[in-house]
Amino acid sequence: MDYEVDKGWYNPRITPYQPITLDPASMIFHYGQSVFEGLKAYRTEDDEILLFRPDKNMERMNRSNDRLSIPAIDEEQVLDYLIELIDLERDWVPNSEGTSLYIRPFIIATERNLRVAPAHSYKFLIILSPVGSYYPEGIHPVGIYVEDEFTRAVRGGTGTAKTGGNYSASYNAQEKASGNGQSQVLWLDALEKKYIEEVGSMNVFFKINGEVITPALSGSILEGITRMSIIEMLKDWGHTVVERKISIDEVFAAYDKGELEEVFGTGTAAVISPVGELQWKEKTIIINNRETGDLAKKLYNNITGIQTGKLADPYGWTIKVKEK
Ligand code: PMP
Repeated sequence: MDYEVDKGWYNPRITPYQPITLDPASMIFHYGQSVFEGLKAYRTEDDEILLFRPDKNMERMNRSNDRLSIPAIDEEQVLDYLIELIDLERDWVPNSEGTSLYIRPFIIATERNLRVAPAHSYKFLIILSPVGSYYPEGIHPVGIYVEDEFTRAVRGGTGTAKTGGNYSASYNAQEKASGNGQSQVLWLDALEKKYIEEVGSMNVFFKINGEVITPALSGSILEGITRMSIIEMLKDWGHTVVERKISIDEVFAAYDKGELEEVFGTGTAAVISPVGELQWKEKTIIINNRETGDLAKKLYNNITGIQTGKLADPYGWTIKVKEK
């Protein structure tokens, strides 16, 4: 659908996947005014299609819109459009273990103008693609590189929004991580380069001496939907979950004391990603013998179980895409 100042959002339509034409002076090419979301549809054993908390993606998209001066969407209406589209494309939702249909809603500023100010016209698109299993050989830990030079986001910046620039700004660090043999970047706060923020495209949790700790929403990290679900689930299971500032020194000190039990990331792509290795400056620590911890495994099984309809959903997190 499109947006014009005098019309609001208008002309929602479903068209075959195809290239779009934009004027070279479209504002998106110059000042990065864009937001996006990412969610998945899963096929159950009974051939139902389930979405996991899509209302939260809509809410977050409007928070991102607000930060990027993009006009708000009608969350309920857009969710209805999204469900209609998935229903139409339900044959594309794969059915083997770990697979899903990835859904990417996004908004770009299309006004033809080089003025540095919010655009007056936008396009909202949703594209879909089947995706394979993140763990074709079963869940396994990844290595993480602690970035101490570059910064992903500053408080008051755009770090809490899902906008393209946050990701392109992280490529340098990602390349450093790969050069060091690690697959992901762990970001520290911009001011002191001390407090842990998040991993590439995941939030992060630490189990230290029986307590689960995750960085508090600092005003510069993305509020992950998996993160909020994990916190609720852990509390439901009787775990203590603390959202607070946690420094990288504290994590390494806990390791030295033998108290660092598990580290894992959470996000839509991998759901739970256990961390087996953490590299910070010249020091590399091996966590839980590079094996997936019991808590990470239990969370993974329960969340993916709910997402794919294998387990009951006591939280009401899943939405069925009804067949028309
Ligand atoms: N942080 C960042 C920077 C991300 O891109 C993502 C992925 N959306 C996450 C955290 C995890 O968020 P979610 O659980 O909603 O996928």
